[in-house]
Amino acid sequence: MSIVEKDIITSSKDEKVYVGKKQGVLKGIPSSSGIAIGKAKIIAPEAAYTSNFELYGTDINQELIKFENVLAEVLQEFEEVIAKIDIENFNVRAIIETNTLILKDPVLILAIKEKIKSGQNVESAIINEFDIQKNYFKRSKDGILRERAVELDHLKKRLLLGIRQKQVIKDVPENSVIVAQVLTPTDIINLKESKIAAIITEVGGIASHSSILARSFGIPEVISVKNALSTIVDNSTVIVDAYSGDIVLNPKKTAIAEYIRKRNKIDEHKKVLGTLAKKSAKTADGKRIHLRANIDDAKDIHYAMMAGAEGSGLVRSENLIVTLGKIPDEETQYVWYKEIADSAYPKSIAIRAFDIGSDKFSEGMPHQEENPALGFRGIRYLLSRKDIFITQLKAILRASVNRNVKLILPMISNIGEVHHSLKLLQEAKTQLREEDISFDDKMPVGIMIETPASAIIADGLAEIVDFFSIGTNDLTQYTIGADRNNELVSDIYDSFHPAVIRLIKMTADAAHKKGIPVSVCGELAGHSAATELLIGLGIYELSIAPPAILEMKSRISSIDTRNCKSIAENALSCTNYDQVRQMLIAQNGGSL
Ligand code: PEP
Ligand code: MG
Repeated sequence: MSIVEKDIITSSKDEKVYVGKKQGVLKGIPSSSGIAIGKAKIIAPEAAYTSNFELYGTDINQELIKFENVLAEVLQEFEEVIAKIDIENFNVRAIIETNTLILKDPVLILAIKEKIKSGQNVESAIINEFDIQKNYFKRSKDGILRERAVELDHLKKRLLLGIRQKQVIKDVPENSVIVAQVLTPTDIINLKESKIAAIITEVGGIASHSSILARSFGIPEVISVKNALSTIVDNSTVIVDAYSGDIVLNPKKTAIAEYIRKRNKIDEHKKVLGTLAKKSAKTADGKRIHLRANIDDAKDIHYAMMAGAEGSGLVRSENLIVTLGKIPDEETQYVWYKEIADSAYPKSIAIRAFDIGSDKFSEGMPHQEENPALGFRGIRYLLSRKDIFITQLKAILRASVNRNVKLILPMISNIGEVHHSLKLLQEAKTQLREEDISFDDKMPVGIMIETPASAIIADGLAEIVDFFSIGTNDLTQYTIGADRNNELVSDIYDSFHPAVIRLIKMTADAAHKKGIPVSVCGELAGHSAATELLIGLGIYELSIAPPAILEMKSRISSIDTRNCKSIAENALSCTNYDQVRQMLIAQNGGSL
């Protein structure tokens, strides 16, 4: 946090407003994207709750009645809130319904009543029982369960407000930037009605229900802003940049103009993306296709999500090495992965372990190879460098704490490589446990299918991995034996080669037989003529470059899956790529 006292003396009438005010920037974690400029509305936290009052005799009945009344009042409020929720915000409804279920839990109700009967007043009984339950979740190594501890705190706070007959937060001036320690889901639903500009909280988690709500309602939110309450002055102007996590306090006129320009640019962009971005990809006859983005840079994910990508099917982690010119340490990697994971949340991202070697980062490789594409690449290199691999696995696991991260192993050609990698993954998990660091113990592990060997033994591999990601760029290179970067063989390097198509089919069949997901993330996935062919081969998940997402959505919406099967069958019966291309041209009535 950096706060600087500046005396700005200008002749401009407007700028005089800022003279002598504290300016500066606070930093937090963006949990619902957007840019907002508004007046701060400070929501002071409740004074510390008292507990362990001793009450005697008839007061017990009084306290029991107070408890019954407040419970009924809050449940009634939740019912009213549910009635206000739009149909499309079904996840919002689920959150409030979960809160309702917690408050209706007979075990919880009984425990609170028992405490009252044993002499505690209603406030103490609620605080003590909720704290017992909360501490149980708080101690959990599981990030999601720890978030539930925050929910319990919200519910406790709401009950106590009811008992003290304090006003629930609502009816704030329009365009306010709410600054609070933490907000409950009901607070956010009520505040939405006041058309607030943004939310800043001192605590909270990206996966908390309040953050999910802010995202659903499109309210920019920055969480984990340290000292927000003691630094931000009520009714002062603040800019909330919920892309970078910056909170600009008492901004100068020039800063406001700059952020307005930035916001307009983003709004313009969103308009262009239009309603298509919000729709999920579906064929004309209603088949859902999962469309994800290939991420080469952490910034790509924002654009991809705006275009409505369902997260990322491939994060090329080796690009971080290329950018930095060296293999980054665990913390640097973690920050990069976590930023991408958080930006995609609740959608998932699939981080591929470093695919170094071949044409990637070869200048930084410690060994010179005659034939690097056939050499020490991807998993082969990683398994020989346990130090590098385990460090990366730990960073990826740490970023998986909200359960939206998957791992992809690159360049697999032998089943032993998968077994060995899974063993090292266990080792990375053990180290994190010893360091008391949370992660998703069930993080799915998939493999790239980019060597003919892996496609041919896909049935065996499907037994030990959670998903397949077909890399047609390399699958073409290795199947045809033509360097993907060599101009001299570019005419025979062709992903429409029937051999490549048959290997895709083998892989898809093996995945379907075992019931694991299979996607294509090579360039073929985004090729305008390949969509029907891939769907016909049994590929319903595609990961493509972010700028192609919208166009692909629109193309998918015009496809009828009944044609796809025959297109695939025709392609599978071809013997050379020219035939496949001619057939696709005939079907599409266009060119390739
Ligand atoms: C592929 O080989 O198709 C792939 C997606 O991986 P990369 O292009 O990064 O080698
Ligand atoms: Mg590849």
